[in-house]
Amino acid sequence: MDIGQLRKDVRDMMPELEGDLEKLIAIPSCAFPGYPPEPVNEMCDETVALLKRYGLTDARKLEVPGGYPAVYGEMAGPAGAPTVMMYAHYDVQPAPKEMGWDTEPFEPTRKDGRIFGRGASDDKSGIAVHAGTVRALNGKPPVNLKIIVEGEEETISHLGDFVHANKEMFQADAFIVADMGNLAPGEPAVTSTLRGHVHAIVEVQTLDHPLHSGEFGGVAPDALVALIRMLATLHHDDGEVAIKGLTSGDWGGGDYPEETYRATSAILDGVELIGRGTVGSRLWSKPSVSVLGIDCPSVDKASNVLLPSARARVGLRIAPGADADHEVETLMEHLRSVAPWGVKVHCERGKVSNGFLVDRERPAYAASKEALTEAYEKEADDCGSGGSIPLLDILKDVAPNAEFVLWGAEDLALSRIHASNESVDPAEIEHMILAQTIFLDRFAAKAR
Ligand SMILES: [Zn+2]
Repeated sequence: MDIGQLRKDVRDMMPELEGDLEKLIAIPSCAFPGYPPEPVNEMCDETVALLKRYGLTDARKLEVPGGYPAVYGEMAGPAGAPTVMMYAHYDVQPAPKEMGWDTEPFEPTRKDGRIFGRGASDDKSGIAVHAGTVRALNGKPPVNLKIIVEGEEETISHLGDFVHANKEMFQADAFIVADMGNLAPGEPAVTSTLRGHVHAIVEVQTLDHPLHSGEFGGVAPDALVALIRMLATLHHDDGEVAIKGLTSGDWGGGDYPEETYRATSAILDGVELIGRGTVGSRLWSKPSVSVLGIDCPSVDKASNVLLPSARARVGLRIAPGADADHEVETLMEHLRSVAPWGVKVHCERGKVSNGFLVDRERPAYAASKEALTEAYEKEADDCGSGGSIPLLDILKDVAPNAEFVLWGAEDLALSRIHASNESVDPAEIEHMILAQTIFLDRFAAKAR
């Protein structure tokens, strides 16, 4: 493979590709219930057209029962070559102006070398990276290539059922999920771990009905105070998670500098960081727990009564490789065990999803590190991701031997995915096209 030529080819296609990406950003493809379906369907059609223009002649709309269609296409490689499926999604998060956008979210805007707009990074950049990769391959992929672009990643996805019903289509030796990014632009890192997450709802009852707080207060416990005392035991004083029995791992990759974390996390001046260990370990290899919501009277509607019941939703991010069922049970057991005053506690488990650990002993991992290092001309590091991708579990289910490469153009430092002022650095897209094209070549050689 002539890397110098490849660099030039990718450089040359960028002006056109950036223009095409801007057209995609202008389509408000929000697939959440209550949002108009026309732009979502339009986005699907445009994705098909784009991939075709860049050389995936086979690109087509794929009806997904119960939901918005996906986009699919294949390109045959040499006989005996491994199969690689590349994933991205074309739907986006909502982008209400009140979120604090400085520009119109669906009017792509250039500023400071970046393209701003909802979906610029998450994950229309992934579509651009795949289209660019297809063009760079010039009709001669070194692997059997499959591309799937989902239309419902950000909302209730129907792709999982579709995958289970069409296992053959989703057989691959490696999956590339281009819905991630480097920690900072120009700093190559492959995502090797993902935390999973679990939810539990805890309800506390102390009284049969509300009581006048003057006539009865001071003797009978109110449920909200009991719940608050329980929730307060989830952390030690320094913010380290205090739930005994949870799985926790060590982080062996590069660290996430505290200054970068402060700059990107919206944490206020003077507010301390919580937990123990490196920032990388706290984000990527250890559990974290948050109280996501509490049902109780609002401040404006509060009156002088002892509350008979209160409930909270607790969210726990679990270590990569941890068993989600075990972790949610451990969380609920903790909450029951710390209940004060004999109050009645009822715990109910919510949605759970396992984390993910890339197997570092296998060819796709090695090929991805080499490809990133080559593309950026800079030693690639490992990073983790605090988020989880439920689709990974489904793909692992139908293709148990497949490897996963998790990367993309959504740099963590500046992209602000899901938030206001989302943006992408076109240089990241360019580098990721290079990396992906080199990866396919290296993986084909290693996996043969
Ligand atoms: Zn995404």
